[in-house]
Amino acid sequence: MNFDFHAHRVHDYAHLVQRWRKLCRMARITCEVYSEAGGFDLICVRSPRLADAGAKAIYLSAGIHGDEAASSEALLFWAELHRPILKDLPLLLFPCLNPWGLVRNQRFDAEGRDLNRCYHLDEPPQIKRQKEIITGYRFSLSLCLHEDYDAQGVYLYEVKQRQTALGQELLAAAGYHVPVDLRKTIEGRRAAQGLIARRTKHLKGVPLMAEAMFLALSHSDRTFTIETPSEYDLSARVQAHVAVIQRAIELTYRGNA
Ligand SMILES: [Zn+2]
Repeated sequence: MNFDFHAHRVHDYAHLVQRWRKLCRMARITCEVYSEAGGFDLICVRSPRLADAGAKAIYLSAGIHGDEAASSEALLFWAELHRPILKDLPLLLFPCLNPWGLVRNQRFDAEGRDLNRCYHLDEPPQIKRQKEIITGYRFSLSLCLHEDYDAQGVYLYEVKQRQTALGQELLAAAGYHVPVDLRKTIEGRRAAQGLIARRTKHLKGVPLMAEAMFLALSHSDRTFTIETPSEYDLSARVQAHVAVIQRAIELTYRGNA
């Protein structure tokens, strides 16, 4: 299969936004600027179905860490592949949460913050604004796309209220493109076949809250953070993310979409 993603421009935010705007026009979904950070406009994408989705919405975000370029590229690539059905899915998408970091290939934002440790706060302003948007919806599925420099394969975090069987299915889909990280301990946490699970009841009072935790605590039924190894081949990483998004939506909306 020929994958037509833009490997040579994955750190080009202006190009990314241009591609999203074109795609959204063609797909008849909304692309809007919701905030500004580090001199860049931040965009979010909403489909018309989001408004009447009730408890059925899908949340996808990427690029909160600027040195994890396959995440933003994969989200756009997935959307391009599925353009004809985007307007029929209840989507809220944040294509790139840290453009300043993306163009510099840096994890942090312009003020040196790790934005994925700020969701317990009402600052910086772009996180506050993003949280306000999230608060208007309820998601049956949320995926936060990431990469990990130290990873030895693809792995997932699941933040959950109760047991789901989705994680291993998503890893199987990703594992077709990138081997699963089989270490028993990943980032200091116990992992089973690439899956690290945390219960929401253990999150109360965590000092630095990640986006996925914020979602899982009160806005999302199934919440995953996907990590691909950022030293691995870029096209395989993009395809692994695409496969996870695709499989997660299939499994969540089987019979409903
Ligand atoms: Zn990350």
